[in-house]
Amino acid sequence: MDDYKIAVVGCAGRMGRMLVRCIQETEGCQVAGGTEVSGGDAVGRDIGELAGLGPLGIPVIDDPVELFAKAEAVVDFTTPAATVAHAELAAQARAAHIVGTTGLDPEQEAEVERAARHTAVVRAANMSLGVNLLQALVEQVARALDPDYDIEVLEMHHRHKVDAPSGTALALGRAAAAGRGVDLDLVAQRVRDGHTGARRRGDIGFATLRGGDVAGEHTVIFAAEGERIELGHRATTRDVFARGAVKAALWTRGRAPGLYSMMDVLGLS
Ligand code: NAD
Repeated sequence: MDDYKIAVVGCAGRMGRMLVRCIQETEGCQVAGGTEVSGGDAVGRDIGELAGLGPLGIPVIDDPVELFAKAEAVVDFTTPAATVAHAELAAQARAAHIVGTTGLDPEQEAEVERAARHTAVVRAANMSLGVNLLQALVEQVARALDPDYDIEVLEMHHRHKVDAPSGTALALGRAAAAGRGVDLDLVAQRVRDGHTGARRRGDIGFATLRGGDVAGEHTVIFAAEGERIELGHRATTRDVFARGAVKAALWTRGRAPGLYSMMDVLGLS
């Protein structure tokens, strides 16, 4: 079988560079090319050199239409607005779309879901095996415990992260809410400041820390009178997300159109 051709949008980003390296190192796939923002320094440079590999003879371009025409899958760790634009173009080109971008609002999420009618889309706020396992465990524990156990989701990320709480923290909150049979939007306490009053029974709280180069840490706390259960995950390198995204891309080969999650890719759903 020929190598699966995977394109990297935002290929000069923190995740983008790592994705290029990971595709090159993974058997069964090859880098189809990459895009960056028009007018940016990366456009015109060699994608391999940008990623810290040797030259691959593929210049970075700024036109996703041109890129998607020669790709079978697109990995996307960019911005919400860019991801929405890429979703439509990937659907038109019938290229699979692997969406790692977080911080999409509900309307933007709906656009990605619409595009999934025409091509395979894998969307996950966190592409690591460990966090997806954690999500399954959190749902199970929340199902077993009653609302006397207060649920709090604590996360820490590097100082450059622009959205909060992290997409992963929200996904963990959704897993806890699903286990409890409630709608997260009705019970989420995303921010606390000032005189908040006592904690409302059944709420799911979030707390966000930012600093340094932390790749991603999440803890879900179930706190009751007299005891506390904590389930957590620490990513020590962003490699785990890149490897998960490349695995997801390879999984889409020959896959019918539809919206899939990392749980589907890992066989945990
Ligand atoms: P980053 O800012 O380093 O990289 C984003 C890149 O996208 C930049 O180089 C930027 O120039 C480029 N870009 C923006 N708009 C573009 C466009 N229209 N066309 C082409 N390129 C464009 O950010 P990052 O740390 O790599 O994170 C990117 C996203 O991935 C964030 O939303 C982050 O939360 C998410 N993320 C998800 C996971 C996961 O496992 N799902 C893991 C890590 C990061």
